[in-house]
Amino acid sequence: MKPFPRAEISRHALQHNLARLREIAPHSQIMAVVKANGYGHGLLNVAQCVGNYSGGADGFGLARFEEALELRDGGVKGRLLLLEGFFRASDLPLIVAHDIETVVHHESQIEMLEKSSLSKPVKVWLKVDSGMHRLGFSLTQFADVYQRLMSCPSVAKPINLMTHFACADEPQNPLTQKQIQAFEDLIKGLDGERTLANSAATLFWPHSQADWIRPGIALYGVSPVVGDKGVNHQLIPAMELVSNLIAVREHKAGGTVGYGAYWQAKEDTLLGVVAIGYGDGYPRNAPEGTPVLINGRRVPIVGRVSMDMLTVDLGKDATDNVGDSVQLWGKDLAVEEVAEHIGTIAYELVTKLTPRVVVELLS
Ligand SMILES: *Cc1c(COP(=O)(O)O)cnc(C)c1O
Repeated sequence: MKPFPRAEISRHALQHNLARLREIAPHSQIMAVVKANGYGHGLLNVAQCVGNYSGGADGFGLARFEEALELRDGGVKGRLLLLEGFFRASDLPLIVAHDIETVVHHESQIEMLEKSSLSKPVKVWLKVDSGMHRLGFSLTQFADVYQRLMSCPSVAKPINLMTHFACADEPQNPLTQKQIQAFEDLIKGLDGERTLANSAATLFWPHSQADWIRPGIALYGVSPVVGDKGVNHQLIPAMELVSNLIAVREHKAGGTVGYGAYWQAKEDTLLGVVAIGYGDGYPRNAPEGTPVLINGRRVPIVGRVSMDMLTVDLGKDATDNVGDSVQLWGKDLAVEEVAEHIGTIAYELVTKLTPRVVVELLS
């Protein structure tokens, strides 16, 4: 028997999605965003799967220095970019040694670069705050900062340029166009590569694709937009989260189930107990009625999700058996839909799986 719960990751889906992103952004290079353990799909698995063939990803986006080192240690060759930059001057020598590139978004990073003496200059992406107001230099700071980096011997030239969108997942929101315009006006005539687009911008704001797109969630076959699904963009969900039925029980009308005893059966039924819970990263706040898939049909969660288990109402005529496989999300039950039931976004569901879930890369 295979171990459970498991996250089955489809190599075919990841490679298909990468190819689909190339179709959608034919003039851009692809920086596949694999931070947070490849959005829960396995950092090295994903990078090796989409990065080691001609036509594969041109580079990878990461949030932590340690993630970049893990990729280099695993033999990943493409360009690597630290999307939040470096946090400690003491990391700079290894960043240079492993040919890792870094975003520069803050004064403190410029100071560290100015004080450093490195064996080679480091490749940087200067981040402009064009309206997200989280990281980056404001439009008014930009010219000074650019000049400082230009005269800093530890910085490789040309300086690459980036920005990030606040609302690209809202196809009607005018802020995105304002951000694009502000960024373009600011950097006109400068050398260096440009990148603006995350998944949502890649899909919905094609004129923001520029030299590099930075898709994360779309690579995993998931739509960044609430109410939308990856399949609507010919993307294939790469993760199937599965576990097993470990008990089937007769349950009387009026009977309650689980901690708090707060769900009550309206009629006699059969309850199934599934071996997955918040200790695996399945959210405890999943409400009654959140669907799971058993033997090709959707059945609702009833009662509270506990640490290692959850309970479902199989219905009185159910023929399901202990050992049957249960899909929590995947090709036949979109993670976007499960996220809506739970009141969160698919990003959070896939990245929050705990190490107890076995991640298995399939063909
Ligand atoms: C996480 C991240 C991305 C990828 O975002 P998606 O919405 O998953 O495509 C792109 N750029 C930056 C700077 C990020 O931090």
